[in-house]
Amino acid sequence: MTIPFNKPYMTGKELSNIAQAHASGHLAGDGAFTKKCSAWLEQRIGTRKALLTHSCTAALEMAAILADIRPGDEVIMPSYTFVSTSNAFALRGAIPVFVDIRADTLNIDETKIEAAITPRTRAIVPVHYAGVSCEMDAIMEIAERHGLLVIEDAAQGIMSTYKGRPLGSIGHMAALSFHETKNIISGEGGALLINDERFVARAEIIREKGTNRSQFFRGQVDKYTWVDIGSSFLPGEIVAAFLWAQLEEATQINQRRLDIWNTYHASFAGLEAAGKVGRPSVPEDCVHNAHMYYLMFPDLQTRTAVIDRLKANGVQTVFHYIPLHSSPHGKQLGRAEGDMANTDRTGACLLRLPLWLGLEEELPAVIAEIVAAIDATQHDTAEVAA
Ligand SMILES: *Cc1c(COP(=O)(O)O)cnc(C)c1O
Repeated sequence: MTIPFNKPYMTGKELSNIAQAHASGHLAGDGAFTKKCSAWLEQRIGTRKALLTHSCTAALEMAAILADIRPGDEVIMPSYTFVSTSNAFALRGAIPVFVDIRADTLNIDETKIEAAITPRTRAIVPVHYAGVSCEMDAIMEIAERHGLLVIEDAAQGIMSTYKGRPLGSIGHMAALSFHETKNIISGEGGALLINDERFVARAEIIREKGTNRSQFFRGQVDKYTWVDIGSSFLPGEIVAAFLWAQLEEATQINQRRLDIWNTYHASFAGLEAAGKVGRPSVPEDCVHNAHMYYLMFPDLQTRTAVIDRLKANGVQTVFHYIPLHSSPHGKQLGRAEGDMANTDRTGACLLRLPLWLGLEEELPAVIAEIVAAIDATQHDTAEVAA
């Protein structure tokens, strides 16, 4: 058995869409497929404006420009996240301020945000880990009280909801990822979602190299020119054509992922009851998208032993982030606010299991291997202790 951690799923319609884009002769950005994808995102997520980008990283960079982040400004975020969450703001000269995560959802601990706010704080960036929502009501309330912007890093959050509201529709802005490791993919890809009307016009300009080209194409101005800073953040039509095949099947993809997730979850209930592993926890008012299935081990040694044994038996499992507050650049640039105990523990103890469409058939065998690996490892640990 050789089971990879991830295997990009394709619906089968990607190539015919690409052929259609090719035949149309429109290969640059903002053609027919881009329009279909943006309209789908606007409708399904309920966002004021969805702009496709070439990555979630690019969408976060656009958000940092739109938020007018300046050198010395502070941006509050979890340390347990991908580097792009932090880099997008660091590129504007901002200082990332890291706050610990909750022990249950592994999302930023909303009760610790307020202590991290200073007169230089400009924004809060909640990251919806594993597609499970942060406590958005509390976060939006804190932001409003302190006059801060909220930019959701919803890279993992497409199709998830918080109190019935789609992730990405709650903050002032949000960023999605269509990287091949996410639920809905285009190889590389992303989108900036804008919920606050104030940012819409400038977002189009920043995405089009600082020009008013979008207005020109709508006939709102008679020539286009340099009006602001910007860069080239838009994907070409080939990428959008691929993405459209995936968005059309998003509901089915989401359901199949949930089925795998639920099978894992039921299978590990006994191990959790026996105190051997921790399972993911989804708050009652959150509907998730099965972006990830993970287990928590008591310590780093046990996790390493489980990874090694599973690898030897053909099942690839992987840990996740090195917390940014303990990374070389994070230490140099950022500040950790308070105790980071849950972040450090998660960095050392969390293990992600294979979860991709097509895994269904092998799933019982994979689960049996994982259970056996956990049992064997506990044995080894007991022997070492004796
Ligand atoms: C995947 C991911 C990103 C980056 O997405 P790209 O599309 O690869 O740029 C950013 N933040 C989080 C939380 C992610 O999981």
